[in-house]
Amino acid sequence: MLCPYCSKEMEEGIIESPNAIVWEKGLDKGSPIRLRNAVSKDGIMLSKRPWHELYNPTVIAYACKDCKKIIIDYDGKADFNQR
Ligand SMILES: [Zn+2]
Repeated sequence: MLCPYCSKEMEEGIIESPNAIVWEKGLDKGSPIRLRNAVSKDGIMLSKRPWHELYNPTVIAYACKDCKKIIIDYDGKADFNQR
């Protein structure tokens, strides 16, 4: 994938978290008591596998270290529990 800012090739990698990786609209959605696989109705589940005690949820991401940008593709499929 080419960086949309500088057009150089981006590095493929993963983002990993002990909880589901979600995007939530707005800047005030953080919760100290988030269920491990929770996403709101307007949120976007990014990780493909739900939290499990044997592995952490991950999502493939592309990084441009020159521009300090990360790009994540998602398909919008949230097959986890909605909160
Ligand atoms: Zn770049």
